[in-house]
Parts: sequence; C-alpha cells; structure tokens
Amino acid sequence: MDERTVSRAAFDAVIFDLDGVVTRTASLHARAWKQVFDEFLARWKWGNGGSRDPFDIEDDYNRHVDGKPRYDGVRDFLASRGIELPEGDPSDGPDVESVCGLGNRKNVLYNELLSQGGVEIFEDTVTQIEAWRAMGLKTAIVSSSKNCATVLQVAGLTELFDIRVDGVESARLGLEGKPAPDIFLKAAELLGVEPARAVVFEDAVSGVQAGRAGGFGWVIGVDRVGARDALLANGADTVVSDLREVPTGS
Ligand SMILES: [Mg+2]
Repeated sequence: MDERTVSRAAFDAVIFDLDGVVTRTASLHARAWKQVFDEFLARWKWGNGGSRDPFDIEDDYNRHVDGKPRYDGVRDFLASRGIELPEGDPSDGPDVESVCGLGNRKNVLYNELLSQGGVEIFEDTVTQIEAWRAMGLKTAIVSSSKNCATVLQVAGLTELFDIRVDGVESARLGLEGKPAPDIFLKAAELLGVEPARAVVFEDAVSGVQAGRAGGFGWVIGVDRVGARDALLANGADTVVSDLREVPTGS
C-alpha cells in the first residue's frame, strides 16, 4: 500500500485532468468519435488490407483517442485500421475528408451533445479540490480539449483552479500533446512549483504516461471505467476510483 498522503509537507500543488477526473464528458467524447469514425469507415473505399471493425467505444477510445489532441486521435485511430488520410488544414470544414476535417466534425458533434446534455460533475473531485485548496495547495486544470474553458464555465467550476492549460493554450505555445509531459510541465511552471512537489490526477493512459514522463511527485490514476491495470502499467503510482479515497495529511 502506498504510504504517501496529499499534504502541505509533501506537496505544493495538485494538477487535474478535466475529462474523466473533474467532469464526466468522456462518454460524450466517445459517442461523438464513434459517430464520426463509423460514418467514415462505412464510406471509405477499401482496397486490400486494413480492418473494417467499427470504432469500439471503450477499447478504441482508450487505446487511440482518449486524452490526446484531437487531430492526433484521428491519425492514430485511422492508423490502427490501416488508413492514412491527408493531414488537411485546421480550417477544413467538417465534411472535408482529411485528418483535420474528421477532427473538426467530431468537435461539431461534441458541442451538440454538450449543449443537449450539459456537463456532469464528479462531486468527489470537487469536494477534494476544495479541501486541498483550503490547506493551501495550489490547483491547476489541464486538458487537451479546446473546449476546456467552456466546459468549466458551464459546470460553474472556473474559480476552482489557479491555472488552466488547455488545447487552446497548447496550440498557442506549441506544446506537444499527451503522452508528452509538456502540458503538465507548463501548468507546474505557471504555478511556480517543482514537478516533484506536485500531484497529477489522470484517467487516461496517455495522461499517466505524461505525468510519469514529467517527473511528477505522485501520479494518481483515476479509474472510472475499469482501466485500473492499464493505468498502473503505464505510469500511475496509485489508482483510485473516487478521489475521496486519496489519503490526505497535513
Ligand atoms: Mg481524461
């Protein structure tokens, strides 16, 4: 059993991934991706080779897409089916058959789902963040999503975080996406803390890999869907299913 605790003695900051840790938008993302990819696979002119399997909302989502910048997710999933599309341009419309076009279509569908259903919050996370802030720990939110600010605003959680590093900021600064550690390291830098004195909370395989690569003091995997073994195998020091399980010291 891990002897560590989240405490002021051991740490200066706590850094949270958004989707799947703070908000329950991962299932909305997965549904939007499935629609985009299944429609694409159905109209793709198959030659020899390649797998025609439809997008698996758990396996393919966790393996190829979750946590990554949008266009990286498109490229990596299509590669798994033996398909290579032209990169296109971020200005491509949602009907353009390119990596950027498919990614943009996913974003349109995601925003439709978001506006229909609102944002669900993991209350266990919010309760813990409030307690840790009261202890004097700094807080940051990181996300590969360019919708991060909108999601936080819709959820009423903007004030909970001292720093935000999201997909918009990543693109502006040229940060490499997860599993590269850039986005977490930037958050630590903006908070003015050493990575070794910060705790990272992540639900994605690519995210715990990023936390490990960044040399963070404690990488805690958050398993909402039965991905415990994959998180432990890819860099999580500890895995919890509810943030209230995380031991807190002083
Ligand atoms: Mg996540």
